[in-house]
Amino acid sequence: MLTGQQFVPGLRPPAQAPRAAAWFAFRADRLLVRPNGESAALLDYEELAALGADFEAGHYLGRLDDVDCYAVSLDEAVEAPAETSLEGLRALFGRLPDAYYTVAGRAIQILHWDLTHRFCGRCGEPTVHAPSERAKLCPKCGLLSFPRLSPAVIMLVQRGDELLLARGSAFPEAFYSVLAGFVEPGESLEEAVQREIREEVGLEVRDVRYFGSQPWPFPHQLMIGFTTTYAAGEIQPQADEIVHAAWFARHGELPRLPGKLSIARRLIDWFLEH
Ligand SMILES: [Zn+2]
Repeated sequence: MLTGQQFVPGLRPPAQAPRAAAWFAFRADRLLVRPNGESAALLDYEELAALGADFEAGHYLGRLDDVDCYAVSLDEAVEAPAETSLEGLRALFGRLPDAYYTVAGRAIQILHWDLTHRFCGRCGEPTVHAPSERAKLCPKCGLLSFPRLSPAVIMLVQRGDELLLARGSAFPEAFYSVLAGFVEPGESLEEAVQREIREEVGLEVRDVRYFGSQPWPFPHQLMIGFTTTYAAGEIQPQADEIVHAAWFARHGELPRLPGKLSIARRLIDWFLEH
């Protein structure tokens, strides 16, 4: 996402006198913010300290221009004080400044990783933070556990003036989108694209081309977008996964589409505009 602001990741806070700081405080997967009309702002250090935020257990994330950014988790018992609210990241899209939104996605993934890697996956020993990289280290057997990222491909299938849209059974609401799926160990991104399309709708595609990517912190996906062109086959929706799939004309009536937040929508808009 181009924001005009530059984020420089870092592991250690600056040693010199502290600069301006932004604290991304989450209670589980909800960020504590102060809504203000259509927008939302972060709380400051003193406000979070009053809520008992454990800054010692916080994580330095890096620097956004000249603002040092930190992730900190709030105890489950913490309630949002007056005029603040705890909100999921999806609901904050377009309300936090874009650059802060991206850092918030980074923050929640680091906190989630920290929480789910407290013990060594191999020997069960409590882990410690590795000294020089973002990793959990097992002091007994030496296993390193890095923040988890799950790559997933997401792809547009075009056939002349039409695009393929599908309604997944896992979608919370009745909207249509492009196909997507997780990359399996041992396959390339291009192979994942072709396999997912074959599995989900029974089609063969060609011209698999990289489109763009997007961090998707729900909880730790990296969405990698592609455009493809229909090559062969008839649509056969995969039972249990796809409720309905069909070709939609560029200038025809379209079903309800995903929100602007997602790369899915960027892919669809790209097709509609070209
Ligand atoms: Zn171990």
